[in-house]
Amino acid sequence: MSAPFPIRPRLLLGPGPSPVHDRILQAMARPTVGHLDPQFLQVMDDVNARLRQVFSTAHPLTFPVSGTGSAGQEAALANLLEPGDTAIIGINGVFGGRLAEMARRMGAEVVAVEETWGHIIDPTKLVQAHRDHPHARLVAVVHAETSTGVRQPLDELGSYLAGTETLYVVDAVTSLGGIPVEVDAHRIDVCYSGTQKCLGVPPGLSPMTFSPRALERVRSRKHPCQSWYLDASLLADYVGESSERKYHHTAPINMMYALHEGLVMIEEEGLEARYARHAEVGARLQGELEARGFTLFAEEGHRLPELTSAALPGGVAEAPLRKALLERYDIEVGGGLGPAKGKIWRIGLMGAGATHDSVDRLLAAVDDLLD
Ligand SMILES: *Cc1c(COP(=O)(O)O)cnc(C)c1O
Repeated sequence: MSAPFPIRPRLLLGPGPSPVHDRILQAMARPTVGHLDPQFLQVMDDVNARLRQVFSTAHPLTFPVSGTGSAGQEAALANLLEPGDTAIIGINGVFGGRLAEMARRMGAEVVAVEETWGHIIDPTKLVQAHRDHPHARLVAVVHAETSTGVRQPLDELGSYLAGTETLYVVDAVTSLGGIPVEVDAHRIDVCYSGTQKCLGVPPGLSPMTFSPRALERVRSRKHPCQSWYLDASLLADYVGESSERKYHHTAPINMMYALHEGLVMIEEEGLEARYARHAEVGARLQGELEARGFTLFAEEGHRLPELTSAALPGGVAEAPLRKALLERYDIEVGGGLGPAKGKIWRIGLMGAGATHDSVDRLLAAVDDLLD
């Protein structure tokens, strides 16, 4: 018999995954049962109900897609787009860029509304793009752009699109559970997230919600969804509470236990308290970094508390320091992507990692290393 592969625990303060509470790991160790077992269906129904609370929505079709946040991203676009459709996509970082790439692969004409990294996309520019392309199938934006630390405002575009035939798609992978995601109030049609960021659950599921008009769109497609696995009209027959449960694919049973436990912990803490915790520790970290000569990358007034992007003081090379942080202090932070590669750190204070203790440990290590 071989010994289990040793894994050193790390303090996960990167852009994801975030630290996972023991309660959640223990929940995963519960017995695996069948995906049509009534016990499991109960867990799934409860997960879906709890997700509606976290997404602030009454959309009946709300459930976790099997796969990480990228699966939710693909599912949103693959279900709504047909070849030749126009998709208006806001791009001010990596994840907006990926949305555009996915939409192109699905045969859509992409209208890119681009902005410099570190800045929000002015909602009036997105509205203008829609006025120029009123028949666009959807407009998609990233709420929390994890590559830059920018928080995109959502409400103005939502109210505008609600009066049109165009669907509103929002990437909430790094926002759900960390900052408010108001699906109904902001008139969002399709919103997806990931378990491994502010929800504090391991990577593997992508919570998602479809408005009735989005589902109507899926059901009235001319061509079937190009992804069979992510086809919401097929998935609805398994995850929907009213219809007969039809096998589609085997749900990741134990991951569902983990998400359930994570959502129970969110209820225990309370959403408002959870948002306040993220806001407080994020603001503190940002202040402490500036006091040490770091330069915050995201524009002021639009900074995410759960993801801080910052350039190191005095031109210190970031990569060796980040490596030392991991090897000597067991703390993980992320480096920059794309044009920000080699220039910034991306520090996540998400889920169970959003604590003053995380900030203390990180700052103590940074002070040591920069000494
Ligand atoms: C992390 C992330 C994704 C992708 O999620 P994975 O879990 O890595 O597949 C998509 N969008 C945003 C904004 C993200 O931060």
